[in-house]
Amino acid sequence: MSVEDPRALPPRESRHAGAILGLAVGDTLGATYEFCSPRAVPEGPLEMVGGGWLGLEPGETTDDTALTRAVLAGYEDGPLDLGRVRDEMISWQNTEPKDIGNQTHKALDHLRCHPNALSLPEDPEAQGNGAVMRAAAHGVKAKDAEEAAENAWTEAALTHPSWEARASSSLVAALVANVLDEIQPEEALDASYALLEGRDEPGKRVRETLRPLEGYEHNPGGWTVYTTRLALLGLLDVKSFRPGLEAVVRLGGDADTNGAVAGALLGARFDVGGIPSEWLRDVKGRDDLLRLL
Ligand SMILES: [Mg+2]
Repeated sequence: MSVEDPRALPPRESRHAGAILGLAVGDTLGATYEFCSPRAVPEGPLEMVGGGWLGLEPGETTDDTALTRAVLAGYEDGPLDLGRVRDEMISWQNTEPKDIGNQTHKALDHLRCHPNALSLPEDPEAQGNGAVMRAAAHGVKAKDAEEAAENAWTEAALTHPSWEARASSSLVAALVANVLDEIQPEEALDASYALLEGRDEPGKRVRETLRPLEGYEHNPGGWTVYTTRLALLGLLDVKSFRPGLEAVVRLGGDADTNGAVAGALLGARFDVGGIPSEWLRDVKGRDDLLRLL
């Protein structure tokens, strides 16, 4: 997808661009408040100011967008190429990024030493946010929700081989695909749960384990279950992109990843035209992401 003005896109392309640019916008807005308490977030509309513990430029994105870009690249020649995703993630690690999660760092080191490996050995402790942060890319690129769920389940194990990380990635990917198909959020979520229910024993409880949060409660960690549940609340709760994303980012904690996952779902729902124009203008790497759609 190559465009001068993302807002001039036809409706379906506009929703696709909304999901990926919504993710990038949520990443950079949230990165300013990563590890903060909700009290540290200023009142009023949020602006793209950069800063945060990483000392970012305004509009600069972090690992969430970089890893999403790696997954998008894995679809550049057609169906998902897991080896390409692995290689793109390793190339990104070679750039010595400002931020890389511990589990992702450890996993990519392992994959370097095992060049034929396309997954890590099962590890129930690997429940960080490193996989769910990139899952929306499958929802955008796979041919339907079923394939998105399957690809995200498989691909998450490149770095996060726990049921929780794989299931939350799979759910987010399927949900993005279903929302892009203009299925209403509640119905889209119901259909996405159904794709996981028959997979395995813990899948039978997925509607409980990954149910939307009941309210906007702060969690200081980067836990894939919390981030997914918060993003589901954001998607179901709001009438437009800005308040949905702001409610999530205002909680601080792992605000960039929470913002990225919620931003992807909200962008799929409200399309690129729903993203405030100043955020769309200032997010870095926008055209590179659009090129991969
Ligand atoms: Mg990040």
